[in-house]
Amino acid sequence: MLVLLTLACGRKPPLAPVRTAELDIMFLDVGQGDAALIRTPEGATVVIDTGHNGQIVPLLRSHGVVRIDLLILSHSHVDHTGGLNALRVSFPIIETWYAGRYRGRIGQTVAGMDSAQTVAAGMTKTLGHLTLLVLHPEPNAGLSEGGDSEVNNGSVVVKAVYGTTQYLFPGDCELGCWGDMFRLHRSDLRADVLKVAHHGSWNGTNSGVLGNVRPAVAVISCGRENRYGHPNPIVLKMLQQIRAKVFRTDEQGTIHCLGADCVPEN
Ligand SMILES: [Zn+2]
Repeated sequence: MLVLLTLACGRKPPLAPVRTAELDIMFLDVGQGDAALIRTPEGATVVIDTGHNGQIVPLLRSHGVVRIDLLILSHSHVDHTGGLNALRVSFPIIETWYAGRYRGRIGQTVAGMDSAQTVAAGMTKTLGHLTLLVLHPEPNAGLSEGGDSEVNNGSVVVKAVYGTTQYLFPGDCELGCWGDMFRLHRSDLRADVLKVAHHGSWNGTNSGVLGNVRPAVAVISCGRENRYGHPNPIVLKMLQQIRAKVFRTDEQGTIHCLGADCVPEN
């Protein structure tokens, strides 16, 4: 009757509210390590880091992943690349990004991947309405595989932009890597959601980092009772001081974000 009345009055019936499509991001609980799954409403799949073993494969399958359009390896450490072999035999991977000269078995694996290409700051990729921007390392940084800090400071840092929401994935960046970005990409560091660098270690976050990123949401990916003491209590305190909403995979398991709206998956 209402519809008839509305039409009779010559007005259009009200439209159903439009549900805004959001970027879907999962910070997977892979124990002590990093692995994030990004899915666009248009169906593209991006994986950033693989965790330390093959457990990423059933996790991705349980979330319906059948192919990976882009795999980003932040750096070569096993807590970020240990699942690579399992991943590449389980899913078609269209493109793989990495930086630096990887040594040992992981070096051989990456060298054997047709999809793998080195990336550097300034590179961008668009998948539907998602834009990925590489902020680190600088081109011709001449990265080699040295000590742990050197490798961490060679991390590929990616900023994801979807609509007005921005996400920052700094891998295991320590303060040297952040220093490069402060000098060269400071205006690009702002993000709504920050994957806290280096599992919340003291050497991955300081007031300068948080002052530039100004995250509303901070996600710490680390293992329960890990032997490194991640996350560092001082980092937690700094995040509290800027009133960031903090999520931790060690305490809450996989964290699921739609846009900048994040909740533990279970
Ligand atoms: Zn790590």
